Amino acid sequence: MTKTLVQNFGKNVSFTPAIFAEPKDEHEVIELLRQHRGKSVRVMASRHAWSDAIKTDGLLISTRHLTQVKLNPDHQSVRVGAGCKIKHLLKFLKKHGLTLPSVGLIDEQTIAGATATGTHGSGKHSLSHYIRSVRLAHYQAATGEPVFSELDSGAELRAARCSLGLLGVIVEIEIEVRPSYQIEEHMKRHASLASILKSETQYPLQQFFVMPWSWDFYCQHRRETPAETSRTALLYRTYWHLGIDWLLHLVLLLLAKFLGIPRLIRGFYRLVLPRTIIRNWIVTDDSHAILTMDHDLFRHIEIELFVSRSNLEAALNHVRETITVFGDGATHEQNRNLMPENLIPENDRGNYCHHYPICVRRIRADDTLISMASPATPNSKEDWYSISLISFQWPHLRSGFFAFANSLAGSMQEKFNARCHWGKFNPLDKSANINLYPHLEEFREIAERYDGQARFANRWLKKAILDDDSTDS
Ligand SMILES: Cc1cc2nc3c(=O)[nH]c(=O)nc-3n(C[C@H](O)[C@H](O)[C@H](O)COP(=O)(O)OP(=O)(O)OC[C@H]3O[C@@H](n4cnc5c(N)ncnc54)[C@H](O)[C@@H]3O)c2cc1C
Repeated sequence: MTKTLVQNFGKNVSFTPAIFAEPKDEHEVIELLRQHRGKSVRVMASRHAWSDAIKTDGLLISTRHLTQVKLNPDHQSVRVGAGCKIKHLLKFLKKHGLTLPSVGLIDEQTIAGATATGTHGSGKHSLSHYIRSVRLAHYQAATGEPVFSELDSGAELRAARCSLGLLGVIVEIEIEVRPSYQIEEHMKRHASLASILKSETQYPLQQFFVMPWSWDFYCQHRRETPAETSRTALLYRTYWHLGIDWLLHLVLLLLAKFLGIPRLIRGFYRLVLPRTIIRNWIVTDDSHAILTMDHDLFRHIEIELFVSRSNLEAALNHVRETITVFGDGATHEQNRNLMPENLIPENDRGNYCHHYPICVRRIRADDTLISMASPATPNSKEDWYSISLISFQWPHLRSGFFAFANSLAGSMQEKFNARCHWGKFNPLDKSANINLYPHLEEFREIAERYDGQARFANRWLKKAILDDDSTDS
């Protein structure tokens, strides 16, 4: 155990825990909890979360050695060590002709880290929804001794599926798997949101992009297909890897990070980008190849807001207006005309030019208590739509992004009951979250059952969920 400086992927979270430990197995986890009883404890996985989720001034446990994988004999689910990265799990499953029911844009996260914050892709539930049981190391309420519990049914399972580490240390997860499948994809420009939503029945796995400054819609239409891999699939993947993952990102880095000239950014979206996007190239490939990209090549930061389908159109208009006011430096009058209820302070106007395509994904309502796609009202089945806003600005020059993200999180929560991704920039406190998550109180009661002393919480989680004003980090 050594003193270690810990930083997340986005370099917006940086801290030195009092104790840093990398247990080799679950018994060492219990031993650590016994040894450091009374200290605050957090778990660190791949550190891809942008929220303060892993921060602690007590004991920080890394799960990098908890990576075992065992397929259940019925091939319907797999038991996997908390620290196993999704890419390694997918590789293991592929050998058995299987895959996960859903994946996000990247596969670098661990299974426990991804599910702890409700990580999702498009067209399915979030990954948390598919968890069948969770093996947890925590302190027993009656004795204070560290013990293992298996949470595999009822409200406790629904809490454990997306728990932000508030119940204890997850050492193993059992999650549903499914046979490998193929996806057909093509990109198409749309004149309106209505036209994109109309195509959803035909392409249930689709996701779409709103281009800032041109305000064009581009949809990646996707559907499952029994077809074989296309002959052009390798070429298509090369186009994505070199053209989008590398070239487009290098151009955006040049414009936003190195030159920082808003006029060039706006001109790029209005004049250049529309001419470079290849449309209507229909390709079929393995789901993993289609659904993931190298989105972690370049450091960035993100806020992602979740609105229900009925609020999507108004929410996207609001995002557009906020971007315009922050980016154009709109005058008081323009600001008032665009956003009468949300006047943005003069200092912030013109201070942040949004420079990245806005990705919108559909997530089906989860059977969880507090994932972002958990039902909006107790029995609602309404789909959620996530709106991602990303900045590639240098970590020390992000004040404009934070002003923009704080403004948007607050106004979107008030106007559209928008939730913030737990694993991305998330400034909402408990007074907001209690209205957004109908099962938050139930979650808190379960968290208290497994962690009566709030040992597994940190300052951010106390503010966002537990409403405790103690000052440890
Ligand atoms: C480039 C990039 C792309 C992304 N793409 C997507 C996407 O497409 N969709 C999406 O929804 N999100 C996405 N995210 C967000 C990411 O999936 C989440 O932040 C996720 O939580 C990160 O997982 P991790 O393994 O890195 O966990 P960490 O960031 O290390 O930890 C996240 C949380 O999980 C808790 N935790 C981890 N392991 C355990 C355990 N064993 N027991 C208890 N608690 C635990 C931690 O305490 C912390 O609260 C992306 C992030 C990045 C950087």
